Amino acid sequence: MNQLLRIPAILPASFLLACAIFPALAQKAPIQITADLSDAPRKLFHAEIDLPAAAGPLTLTTPKWIPGTHMPIGPAASITGVVLTGNGQPIPWRRDDVDLYQFHLVVPNGVSTIHAHLDCIVTRRVSRKLAVLEWEKLLLYPANTPVRDIPIQASLIVPAGWGVGTALTPIGAGAFPIPATGATTRFAATNVEQLQDSPIVAGQYFHEFPLAPGITPKHFIDVASDYPEDSNLRPALLAELSNLVREADALYGSHHYNAYHFLLTLSDVAGGEGLEHGQSSDNGVGEKGYADDAHQLADADLLPHEFTHSWNGKYRRPVGLYQPDFATPQQGALLWVYEGMTEYLGHLLAARSGIETQAQYRDVLAITVARLDYTPGRNWRPTEDTAVAASILRDRDPVWSNWKRGQDYYNEGELLWLDADTLIRKLSQNKKSLDDFQKIFLGKGGNTGPLIVPYTFDELVTDLNAVVPYDWATFLHDRVDKINPRADLAGIEQGGYKLVYRDKPNAAERTVVAAGGPRGGGLDCWFSIGLRIGADGGIGDVRWNGPADKARLAPGEKIMAVNGQIFSGDALKAAIRSAKGNSEPIHLIVQADSFVSTVDLDYHDGERYPALERVDGTPAYLDDITKPLTVPEKAPLSPKKDDE
Ligand SMILES: [Zn+2]
Repeated sequence: MNQLLRIPAILPASFLLACAIFPALAQKAPIQITADLSDAPRKLFHAEIDLPAAAGPLTLTTPKWIPGTHMPIGPAASITGVVLTGNGQPIPWRRDDVDLYQFHLVVPNGVSTIHAHLDCIVTRRVSRKLAVLEWEKLLLYPANTPVRDIPIQASLIVPAGWGVGTALTPIGAGAFPIPATGATTRFAATNVEQLQDSPIVAGQYFHEFPLAPGITPKHFIDVASDYPEDSNLRPALLAELSNLVREADALYGSHHYNAYHFLLTLSDVAGGEGLEHGQSSDNGVGEKGYADDAHQLADADLLPHEFTHSWNGKYRRPVGLYQPDFATPQQGALLWVYEGMTEYLGHLLAARSGIETQAQYRDVLAITVARLDYTPGRNWRPTEDTAVAASILRDRDPVWSNWKRGQDYYNEGELLWLDADTLIRKLSQNKKSLDDFQKIFLGKGGNTGPLIVPYTFDELVTDLNAVVPYDWATFLHDRVDKINPRADLAGIEQGGYKLVYRDKPNAAERTVVAAGGPRGGGLDCWFSIGLRIGADGGIGDVRWNGPADKARLAPGEKIMAVNGQIFSGDALKAAIRSAKGNSEPIHLIVQADSFVSTVDLDYHDGERYPALERVDGTPAYLDDITKPLTVPEKAPLSPKKDDE
């Protein structure tokens, strides 16, 4: 059912723009695309595509700017085996000299369908046992046309016995989610914009679990893993994910999908991922990423974050980040809302749904705020510039990254929206909160099917004022556009806590380290000597103007020995402790390229790790923010139980 019919009469012009897509669909024959994942274990996807065409010049294109990635990383370089035919005869093509994603051809007289074969070499999100298809890897369609106006019908072939999860609607023959061996699954016709937004997860060890029965529309998690035991998720986790669905329902008060599918891979080979879509999300963690509470803490906010994007990022999208095709550059100036507010909401939903505890939420927040506070690049680059420059800052290269700043709009945004939430609570005597803003901003238009409704900065200000009148424009500009040498600590302080440093890591950090470390691993000496160090002593980054910087250490060097002992994490920590309160420097032997030198580190304040400490006698808004809105599921929901 098309829920567009439920949109009320008074609508912003952007709604009308977004809704105008459907009449065009009815008038054209759809492109037919069959994605063949039979060779996915060998890192190849294949496509057979039939494109309606008329005689004369035609330009086809592959996608360049992929929504949600915030950068031009379409797969043009990985596409191979491109062969075009018409009525069985080869049709020559020539790549555009400037736009390398485009193919020019001339459709011969008498040809009404161009058949295209292409392959894509895929090195991420595949393993011997599973694959994720993000459709942009195989798409080919007419250039210079809004992608929402191009109808397309997709079919899928997967290796025999593999299960399939997707938000696409299967039609006709072929059992689902496990298609009959060798069968082709056909999906209902959609448009290129929506197909690109509807990935597939497929795998040999596959489970689909319904979540939160009783909540409409329906929610599922579709899991594929490299080993059979991993995709059969723990009942406790499934209960928490059902809580997540109920909490999001209570928080947002609207939805913008016909059904929602969390797609999840558990694999050390297929790689980490978190990519949002309107009716699903593509999530990847390690093989044991959800095997127990300790492992799941490192990625506690992953599923809540990507789920939240269905509202914030997909349904409501900054005007510059929504372009009519995948060729026009996307503009990231409002990513501190798209990603930053999602970061805030993802973490609080993780706590509200019990994926992490309230105490773990605070511990993780302490690390986030401390890292931002110890990012010296904030002295020259405003947060907004990290958003505007997002597409050139996503390399994650650690070398001097604290002086450059990376994608700080995520975590700066988290602190900004925490600041706004606690301020609304303070101004309203805790009668209102950012939850009220979400219902206005993300629920505009009521419940809808998948839809994109762009917004501007001014709309944010208007909607915040509808919750509590305040000078929100200045509030936002001060935190986003200006140089702020300190991180925004106001949210934590208004929330009844303060940031402190202790000589031991907080409990959440200890849990994550004991479970194998955070993604990226390494030793946390950032707040003491100012180094990011791998387990082997390799220096990832040096804190600008910190003790190690003053001792002229550099990223890429390797610490070989500490105070006369061969390097180990324990030896370095012991040296930091023993230098506390005296004047004896820490003696290092350091390798730089093929040279070795001695370095003295003049640092005497001991180990330092961030934590949040309650300030007695102040309102504990931070605890209110992380309390569930719904009654948490008590008895774990297990698929076995459902069968009984
Ligand atoms: Zn995100």
